[in-house]
Amino acid sequence: MYTCLNYIDGQWMPAQSEATLESRNPANWHELVATFPHSDSTDADKAVQAARRAYQKWRLVPAPNRAEFIYRVGELLLQRKEELAHLMSLEMGKPITESRGDVQEGVDCAFYYAGEGRRLFGQTTTSEMPNKFAMTVRMPIGVCALITPWNFPVAIPCWKALPALVCGNTIILKPAEDTPACANFLIQIFHDAGLPPGVVNLIHGLGEEVGQALVEHPGVDLVSFTGSSQTGAHVGEICSRTHKRVCLEMGGKNAQVVMEDADLELALEGALWGAFGTAGQRCTATSRLILHRDIKDKFTAMLLESTGKLRIGAGTDPDTQIGPIINGVQLQRVMDYMEVARSEGAKILTGGERATEGPIKKGFFFQPTILDQVTPDMRVAREEIFGPVVALIEINSFEEAIAVLNDTPYGLSSSVYTRDVNRAFQAMRDIEAGITYINGPTIGAEVHLPFGGVKQTGNGHREAGSAVLDVFTEWKSVYVDFSGRLQRAQIDNH
Ligand code: ADP
Repeated sequence: MYTCLNYIDGQWMPAQSEATLESRNPANWHELVATFPHSDSTDADKAVQAARRAYQKWRLVPAPNRAEFIYRVGELLLQRKEELAHLMSLEMGKPITESRGDVQEGVDCAFYYAGEGRRLFGQTTTSEMPNKFAMTVRMPIGVCALITPWNFPVAIPCWKALPALVCGNTIILKPAEDTPACANFLIQIFHDAGLPPGVVNLIHGLGEEVGQALVEHPGVDLVSFTGSSQTGAHVGEICSRTHKRVCLEMGGKNAQVVMEDADLELALEGALWGAFGTAGQRCTATSRLILHRDIKDKFTAMLLESTGKLRIGAGTDPDTQIGPIINGVQLQRVMDYMEVARSEGAKILTGGERATEGPIKKGFFFQPTILDQVTPDMRVAREEIFGPVVALIEINSFEEAIAVLNDTPYGLSSSVYTRDVNRAFQAMRDIEAGITYINGPTIGAEVHLPFGGVKQTGNGHREAGSAVLDVFTEWKSVYVDFSGRLQRAQIDNH
């Protein structure tokens, strides 16, 4: 059992109230994985004060030196990958190979942003005036609150923390209530990498209490949030009221199109991985399969057969392909959607119920589920379910496929399987989403490309790649006049 603590100003400590909360294994809720501080606004305030103090020094550390710490974080993550991956599978349930991938994404992220320490490019440009020099530089923002979900307990905090730090900001991580131990492990790595006190802080607790306290705190300059659309909207409202920069990554209702000319075996592998990987609990999960009528029956039969062979179990069991749902509340939500599906006239081809047989009966497992006869207007085709559930929608043409794909309030990931290069390029042009895969599933982002979505998925920002630097820095335009006289711009000098 793990005892998590807050990490403030380089010190591990309990919540001021000393109250604690519990994190349990979703594959066996009798197993206590960790206790963690039930922090309140006093703890949040302490972390903000520490981060504010540290910021004044950290912003002046040359970026290549800041990057050396980031590089060390990557090395330590790599060294402790197996231990951390095991803890992740235990605490949030995903299969061990996926947990290793989650940690590896943190490693990749560290090495990528360590490199950024020697770039952080600005522009030099011309001036309207003689003997005048013009350039742009990136400035850090200040204290950043990073509010993260449980489904990528290492990758997502790394996506946010590492670029924030290399840019010269200080951070406070508020991890999800379901994965405190993973967050603790990660912050121990930051500590061991030697980051100065106050540069990185960790506050555990409930989102609506300590998360909200951070979002409201006047000493926080920026909030980077990944989570549900509902919470994101709330966080966004507070940030707009308090004039904070806010980056929101929220829901998705991602679709994979399979055209009649597609390689069906390939499309099948993509659909299985996209829909049922991480038990469908990814914001990029495939929750709609848009199938051309000419291949729909054949593809559905193939999908049914393969789905029936998927092995459900604890993430720590190396044979497992589908782990548990994160907690009882989310399991109930997925089950409620089965009622919605039935009442709307969708047909449950397989699954639709909890999985309770054998050693998994004490866990929150749900059978991989295929809903047929779904139409684009149904709630199960429009709302994010966040479980191993995929809806089949039949279409008659490529144009209809793209229209149906776009007919959603979200716009995160998308995929089209076709052998027709013209269709592939039309899809790249016409799909309203932040990410489009051609002949690949909707999941599998790489850290050096921008990540984020359009419409209600986000608020116009991107994570990852060089794009995230625009989240964690402000641009400053610098003019140097070496003419020795007043030169007036914004005046008609002609
Ligand atoms: P999920 O459905 O993925 O749990 P949430 O949006 O509820 O999504 O949670 C994502 C993160 O937001 C978690 O770290 C959670 O603690 C935090 N959170 C929840 N409510 C609030 C809030 N009112 N203010 C700030 N953070 C919150």
